[in-house]
Amino acid sequence: MFEIHTLRLGELLIPHAGGLLRDPIHAWLVTDGKVRILVDSGMPDAAEVKARLKIDGTGGGQESLRSALAEVGTTPDAIDFVVPTHLHFDHAWNLDLFPNACVVIQRDEVFHAIDPAPTQRIYYFKETVIAFLQRKRPSQFRLVDGDVDLTDGISLIRAPGHTPGMQVVVVTTAKGKAALVSDLGDHYRSWFPADPRATHTPMRFLADGFLPGAIRSESERTYVESMARVKAASDIVVPAHDFRIPRHMPRDWFSGPSSIDDDLTHMSPPKAAG
Ligand SMILES: [Zn+2]
Repeated sequence: MFEIHTLRLGELLIPHAGGLLRDPIHAWLVTDGKVRILVDSGMPDAAEVKARLKIDGTGGGQESLRSALAEVGTTPDAIDFVVPTHLHFDHAWNLDLFPNACVVIQRDEVFHAIDPAPTQRIYYFKETVIAFLQRKRPSQFRLVDGDVDLTDGISLIRAPGHTPGMQVVVVTTAKGKAALVSDLGDHYRSWFPADPRATHTPMRFLADGFLPGAIRSESERTYVESMARVKAASDIVVPAHDFRIPRHMPRDWFSGPSSIDDDLTHMSPPKAAG
């Protein structure tokens, strides 16, 4: 049976509604004590994100990943598999920190990273693709096509929507199956759009449906179909950019959040000088 540790690597402050939206950046260490799998590998150092995208933030870079792994008692050298859910800059940076791990990616995600949908060009940094392509030994990478079992108790579900080659990692734990859904519905309000505990703006007309994220390469139908498949294959979903996700599974175990606290965490804009 596997355990999942949520690693908080930093935050981005996204301009939103005249203020700033705090956006946590996460990765997950999945382990049964023998095999160690890192799901997602974080973002560049906040200063570098600022220089490239003009977005403020904190944390990021190799240092945030090293120290988050140290907090859960491991090191980059001990990681067997790195499984980026997709190749956006905030999910698949720092790959060179893991020369001995096997990086597992959906084949069509690699192609999309080279030639993205135009609205997604800003999210794919060329260094991510280069870091992946520099892995020449067969033991250093694996391209997969569709749903596969990574090992006993860990399956990858190809879930097109946010990107074409997005993959969701479903982990078997002592309490059930946890789906690390990443940006396929990156907040609980996407998964429970009608539930007043999940969102400030419950939408009753979506009571039996999902709210696809605004950033998507695929059609709304494809996106929602992927969400339905993931929901059917798991007991709980863990969205990447929600502050409320469990910090350790199965110890913390809930299908949806119990309140809207930290659903959308805003900061007021800095006061203009003068
Ligand atoms: Zn993301």
